[in-house]
Amino acid sequence: MSLPSKTNPKTAWNPDRLDVRAFALAGARLEAEVPLPAFERLYAEAAPADGAPASVHWQAQGEMRPAASGGAPAVWLHLEADTHVPLTCQRCLGVVDTGLTVDRWFRFVADEAAAAAEDDDCEEDLLALEPRPRLHDVLEDELLMELPLVPMHEVCPVQVPMQATDPEVDAGDTEVRKNPFAALARLKK
Ligand SMILES: [Zn+2]
Repeated sequence: MSLPSKTNPKTAWNPDRLDVRAFALAGARLEAEVPLPAFERLYAEAAPADGAPASVHWQAQGEMRPAASGGAPAVWLHLEADTHVPLTCQRCLGVVDTGLTVDRWFRFVADEAAAAAEDDDCEEDLLALEPRPRLHDVLEDELLMELPLVPMHEVCPVQVPMQATDPEVDAGDTEVRKNPFAALARLKK
C-alpha cells in the first residue's frame, strides 16, 4: 500500500481507514460503484437471481459544523448508498427485487468511549474517529438495517393458494372469538 500523497490530496483518501477529521476539514467527497457481492453480509441475504448481480452506488461527504455550545467545530460525515437486492417473497417465494437507500449523517467524536458516553444524550448517530472507520463496513451496516423484515411483493406475480396459515384467515378467527354475535349476524344475512 502506498502512503497518501501530500501533493495530490484528491487521491489521498483511503475509504478503508478514513481520516474523517481531515476529510471533513477539506470538505472532501468520495464516490464509488461496488458490485453487490463485495458486501458479503448483505449479499448473503440475497436470493439467487438470474443475470449479473446489482451494484451498490455510494458516496461520502465530509463537513465541519460549528458546535451548538460554542465549542470546537464538530466533524460530520454524510453517507448515501443506493442498490437493489433480490430477496425471497415470503408470500409466493418468488424473487422480489427490493430497493435499498441509505441517506444518513454521522457526527464523529474522538473514540469509541466518547461515542458510548455521549450516545444517550443526543439524537444523531455517533461514530469514532479512532480507530479510523472503514466506510464499506459502515455502509453495509446501514444497508442491512434497511432490509425489510418480511420481504414481499406488493402484488405477487402468481396466484397463491389460500392456506390455514394465511394471515387473513387467522384475523378472521380472532374476530369470531372476540365477537361471536357479529359473526352470527353475518351468517344470517
Ligand atoms: Zn410474492
